[in-house]
Amino acid sequence: MKTNQDSLQRFVFENTPVRGNLVNLTQTFQQALQKQHLPKGLRRALGELMAASALLSATLKMHGALVLQIQSKGPLKLLVVECSSNLDGGIKIRATAKWTGEIGDQINDEHTLFELVDHGHFMITLDPKDGGQAYQGIVPLEGDSISAVLENYMLRSEQIDTKIWLCCDGESAAGMLIQKLPETMNQVTQTEELIGHDLETWNRVGYLASTVTDDELLNLPTETLLTRLFNEEDVRLFEASETGFSCSCTRENVANMLRMLGDEEITSIIEEQGKIEVNCDFCNHLYTFDKVDATQLMVTEALLITSPGIH
Ligand SMILES: [Zn+2]
Repeated sequence: MKTNQDSLQRFVFENTPVRGNLVNLTQTFQQALQKQHLPKGLRRALGELMAASALLSATLKMHGALVLQIQSKGPLKLLVVECSSNLDGGIKIRATAKWTGEIGDQINDEHTLFELVDHGHFMITLDPKDGGQAYQGIVPLEGDSISAVLENYMLRSEQIDTKIWLCCDGESAAGMLIQKLPETMNQVTQTEELIGHDLETWNRVGYLASTVTDDELLNLPTETLLTRLFNEEDVRLFEASETGFSCSCTRENVANMLRMLGDEEITSIIEEQGKIEVNCDFCNHLYTFDKVDATQLMVTEALLITSPGIH
């Protein structure tokens, strides 16, 4: 049994534009998926996406939400991972999947993500909570791994050289990211010699990092892993950020969603079923609105409609 705490840790290679981070999610992964019955392949894919969301949000230093989505027209419809970061660098993750049919029908435990995807797209959404501009990028789902899709995305859309390793054994998810910051982001004046030196460092570090195994990512403590991989390099490791599972759903949000259905729809569901039940896709929490609750939803809407100008 693994005893490692979940962790997300940034590191830099001193005096070079190369930086990285490592993530290991066990409790977060298990809590996020404990109420969802998923085929094994999708469970592993969600684990990898969770690790990826933590790695990417650590590079952004953003206060807000980073959402990674895979959409497809195949048996798999949607994978969503949302990673929210606080001002202190701590992160909260939630995740969900949608597919057609039953497990064992079109989707079984042996299927890998890419066997279930047709006309797939990968989408990344940044939703800053500090007033910054929201951003959405979308690319075709090409390549044969989630890490390859993300590396292509980072190079094409962000022009940042990035290498990512992800793994998930169904119990834990883990990953490592390294990046070479663009020359313009360096404080020092760039000479050709220095640029050549940076490139050499990037190639060397990339090669050393590529020797990492899934077993090492999943089971070694961060410091041990960094020493093993980059023994000769001058690596500075930062404090770990707190990571965990958390779902941001609220009864109020669900009520707002129901209000958008309109009085007619609400009335018809109540007449048919006597109550309205909504399950959160992420945490599976059940929100129930009985006849009285439902009437209040409609009364509120009626008040809003009849009282323009009153807020
Ligand atoms: Zn929820």
